[in-house]
Amino acid sequence: MTRSAQQNSPVTSLPCVRRDHADAAGGGRTPVLWGRRRVLLLNATYEPLTAISIRRAIVLILRERADVVHADAAVPVVHSATTTLPVPSVIRLRTFVKVPYRAVVPMTRAALMHRDRFRCGYCSSKATTIDHVIPRSRGGGHSWENCVACCASCNHRKADHLLSELGWTLRTQLSPPKGRHWRLLATVKEIDPSWAQYIDAA
Ligand SMILES: [Zn+2]
Repeated sequence: MTRSAQQNSPVTSLPCVRRDHADAAGGGRTPVLWGRRRVLLLNATYEPLTAISIRRAIVLILRERADVVHADAAVPVVHSATTTLPVPSVIRLRTFVKVPYRAVVPMTRAALMHRDRFRCGYCSSKATTIDHVIPRSRGGGHSWENCVACCASCNHRKADHLLSELGWTLRTQLSPPKGRHWRLLATVKEIDPSWAQYIDAA
């Protein structure tokens, strides 16, 4: 499996990670590791599909439905009866899966922050919250077109005002993001740094 993973992948990393606490991970006695970490699932074309649990990712690898593309050297290995493999952070399906395209990306806090690149829509400083451009109290909707990433300072100053009342303008026009990878961004809270190159490529 190791050899085929390397052959199929332009990324030559399938690090041989060995840690003493690996048995704990393999035995499922580390609920934090199993429960919180997600694995990026790529289509055979390297298109990002979704984020799945480590358990599901390992099942796909052991059934030879997917190969490890990236594994974090800082996390333990998993032992099965016949093999040892690093806990993956990115895996890739061996065969292409056709995914029905959903045009409208669900708007979540995570996806909105990514759309606005974690920068305030008014002053460009680090965004920590979400602002409704037309305040909800004045009929503004909770939509891609009316929500913007916002810093705490602007959010506090803007309160329930309209932009016209403050003389403020938005840095960019707000619109729903397009592209399949946005469905992924809409469903995960944290993006593993090792996923970035695959998401950016999409
Ligand atoms: Zn701001």
